[in-house]
Amino acid sequence: ALSYLIVLAYGGSMVIDGRISLGDFVAFNSYLALLIWPMMALGWVINVLQRGAASMERLNKILESRPDVYDRPDCVDMESINGSVEFRNLSFSYPDGSMVLKDINIRLAKGKTLAVIGKTGSGKTTLANLLLRFWDPDSGAVRIDGIDLRDMARGNFRQAIALVPQDPVIFAATARENIRFGRPDASDAEVEAAARAAHADEFLNLLPEGYDSFVGERGVMLSGGQKQRVAIARAFLKDAPILILDEPTAALDTESERAVQRAIDAVVRDRTVIVIAHRLSTIAGADQIAVVDDGRIVQLGTHSALLAQPGRYLAMWEAQQAAKIWSGRV
Ligand code: ADP
Repeated sequence: ALSYLIVLAYGGSMVIDGRISLGDFVAFNSYLALLIWPMMALGWVINVLQRGAASMERLNKILESRPDVYDRPDCVDMESINGSVEFRNLSFSYPDGSMVLKDINIRLAKGKTLAVIGKTGSGKTTLANLLLRFWDPDSGAVRIDGIDLRDMARGNFRQAIALVPQDPVIFAATARENIRFGRPDASDAEVEAAARAAHADEFLNLLPEGYDSFVGERGVMLSGGQKQRVAIARAFLKDAPILILDEPTAALDTESERAVQRAIDAVVRDRTVIVIAHRLSTIAGADQIAVVDDGRIVQLGTHSALLAQPGRYLAMWEAQQAAKIWSGRV
């Protein structure tokens, strides 16, 4: 722009003085434009190329990185999975951290429920993540149907596990599409049956467009309890033999918690369930309760067996009962 201004001022004065003709001046200006535009375009192209090269380098790094877990060429491809789960002498540390799980031994038969309780940071979610084989253990093994997960194709057992996390991922789509994510080939009737089982139809029917209502970015149009029930409906639709519930009622008020608990009771039937919980009243019926502290199982047994012995479980139970009486919930 500056060069144009200079050319205009200088060239203009030359035309006024009669040193060049107006035609020369106009021709000069046109040639100047012809020269400047390709140079500007070249600058722009070089800029885009440089940015592209930088992105390409980052992309290459991702493409070349070797995943921590991968299927061995000789891994077993299972026809179907029954759903027994075992953690055997399991120890694990994150690549950048200290030991998170130490010598975990739990056997869970098909159709049984294991509740895992313990303080925040004691390793409960890590245990669930190892069952999904997001990482491999440092020593020991995680087994499903007696087979080490490292010997099984990941698609096999991940298909056999449904996960309801504490903060479920809800997509910016309709409620129906969000539930169908559990099994993309499910029919509308199956989606609605799953929603009924998870007690999600109660609020979905009240939405302006029912199941076809848009639930917003990350499900902002739904409350915490409603999102949980959509996630449970999704798990119900997936109909997997193993179900992981990672503190599904932790962030809810009492009213929503009751609704979600009813949904959970419907979905856990006949499945192998691992439930991570902090309210002990919700897990009293579990077949096994594992109390985890600092990555170790400090107590393992049924509710009544654990209440009969002095220990962390009894202390937690008494504290929660006292809190309930105090808050008027009993
Ligand atoms: P809990 O579910 O009992 O609250 P977690 O299994 O989430 O506990 O975490 C156990 C420990 O592992 C914590 O100290 C946490 O900081 C650490 N941890 C969890 N996830 C990761 C990760 N991806 N990388 C490194 N450390 C992690």
